[in-house]
Amino acid sequence: MDAQERTAREGVVAAARDLDALGLNRGTSGNVSCRFGGGLLITPSGVPTRDLTAEAIVPMGLDGSHPAGVKPSSEWRFHRDILVARPEIGAVVHAHPVYSTAFAMCGQDIPAVHYMIAAFGGPSVRCAPYAPYGTEALSHLALDALEGRSCCLLANHGMIASGSDLTRAVWLAQELETLCHQYAVARQVGTPQILSDAEINETVERFRGYGLNAAR
Ligand code: 13P
Ligand code: ZN
Repeated sequence: MDAQERTAREGVVAAARDLDALGLNRGTSGNVSCRFGGGLLITPSGVPTRDLTAEAIVPMGLDGSHPAGVKPSSEWRFHRDILVARPEIGAVVHAHPVYSTAFAMCGQDIPAVHYMIAAFGGPSVRCAPYAPYGTEALSHLALDALEGRSCCLLANHGMIASGSDLTRAVWLAQELETLCHQYAVARQVGTPQILSDAEINETVERFRGYGLNAAR
């Protein structure tokens, strides 16, 4: 492993630790990948985040190939398929945070109840229908739900967030969980008002120059 690859692997480990520290993942749930060379680097399957090391990160080809004797995340298909289908995406994170997963358990899309939904690319965050974890079927459903968006929910499972790099993917995962938390509370308080597509599309445009977007 050269210095460049070590740095990239350490970035994957740091992102996985950030997801835990932010309360978005725990134990062995979730996984992280980023584009590297002609392929990707991805967290190993079933390893608790606290035990992750740069050495344990699995390098994969876009054809799904990987060194013998190592086990990439069981969700490598959707990580790989997103990176293949979406050239603007450089990193993918998957998590099971409480509020996003609660809406995913109910199979509900997140509507435009806050202007921050524009950070995900449009006036909704879709919930992909259920398919078992680690399957090609789940990957196809996730790609459909991600059309024109950076994030989606996975029914009865969790969420996916993606971005141009790991910092942005982790940020969007945190923003989606925050939005789901706010939406859950708002539904208890009263009837959340839905912003129009025109209002969100205007905000999507303005977001291009905002915060982490502007830096990239
Ligand atoms: P892995 O440990 O194989 O990455 O699986 C965790 C997970 O969240 C499966 O959906
Ligand atoms: Zn999962």
